[in-house]
Amino acid sequence: LNEGLRCIGCGAIMQVLDPTKAGYLPMSALKKSIDSEELLCKRCFRLRHYNEIQPVELTDDDFSRLLHQISDARALIVYVIDVFDVTGSEIAGLPRFVGQDNPILVVANKVDLLPKLLNKNRLKNWLQAELKVQGIKPVDIFLTSATHPKNLDGLLDTIDAYREGRDVYVVGVTNVGKSTLINQIIKSGTGVQDLITTSRFPGTTLDRIEIPLADGKKLIDTPGIVKRDQITHVLADKDLKYALPKNEIKPRTYQLNAEQTIFIGGLARFDFESGEHTPITAYFENNLNLHRTKLAGADDFYNKHAGELLVPSPREAATTNLVKHVFNVTEKSDIVFAGLGWISIPAGVKVAGWAPQGVSVLIRKAMI
Ligand code: GDP
Repeated sequence: LNEGLRCIGCGAIMQVLDPTKAGYLPMSALKKSIDSEELLCKRCFRLRHYNEIQPVELTDDDFSRLLHQISDARALIVYVIDVFDVTGSEIAGLPRFVGQDNPILVVANKVDLLPKLLNKNRLKNWLQAELKVQGIKPVDIFLTSATHPKNLDGLLDTIDAYREGRDVYVVGVTNVGKSTLINQIIKSGTGVQDLITTSRFPGTTLDRIEIPLADGKKLIDTPGIVKRDQITHVLADKDLKYALPKNEIKPRTYQLNAEQTIFIGGLARFDFESGEHTPITAYFENNLNLHRTKLAGADDFYNKHAGELLVPSPREAATTNLVKHVFNVTEKSDIVFAGLGWISIPAGVKVAGWAPQGVSVLIRKAMI
């Protein structure tokens, strides 16, 4: 592709290879738009003609430049996180760059995935404690679901109350649902006039999208940063639908004895190494196959059945060996498989979580 071809909307260099990166346009559309002399990348095209934004990814370098820019601004930071993957939502360096003066409003998205009976105040308190670990002290936490929005006005009112005349920067890592949420805001039209243009983030290769607010201030969408320690990176595209939840998760409870193992498809493994007979509860995509077996034969079982009884399995490019992480549990906790789900366990047990190389397994205070 000609190096000099740039999108007239955002200035990104046009490319036909990676739909998730800036400047993307499918080859067929590229030919057409050269002929029509309206050279817009897919993202700017959708924005201009359908008032719709598309998610786009950012490199680490670009992202730290962008954070610097935010730290120089006087703004309300709207930090969008995924309640199903709170650790995976973490933006490293965010607290440092936001500074003392810029308040953070946390929008906790995808609450539709959690059991409906979960007490909302409890969830907020739990989130507050988790965010504290990330160094974030939000002015407020707003629970929402971008795919089933019920209280979009409430969200906009909350943003308005905390911004006190400032601009609003919406930040989040990829896949937390930031684009879906902003599209809902654009469609609702509340306080939003016609969406006009995109402009560049200085020093980055990416466009920013500014949604005008009633008082001449702007709501600024920032590109999502890619997290690399998530299960999505070791899954083939065709398998994503078996692993990522779409609907309310139905908790699955097992009565376990010591020295039993549960395989989570072929993607992860949980060992109950020692402790009294106990119930444990698993929170994963409802159709993801969980398979209980004896710890003693678990290695052989995996070698024999991965990719067949135990599906999905990590795509071939990723390592097929699962890596073991051991935990001595002192309070009711969750063992979290980054982006995949978690298993809730009682105090006083020793367990292990296994996941493909590069996928985090960690322990946290129980959410539910
Ligand atoms: P972005 O990368 O943060 O802009 O994320 P997207 O808006 O592209 O959303 C990532 C995925 O999460 C998509 O498959 C969305 O359909 C899904 N998603 C977004 N918001 C929600 C939500 O509130 N609930 C559920 N269940 N899924 C959501």
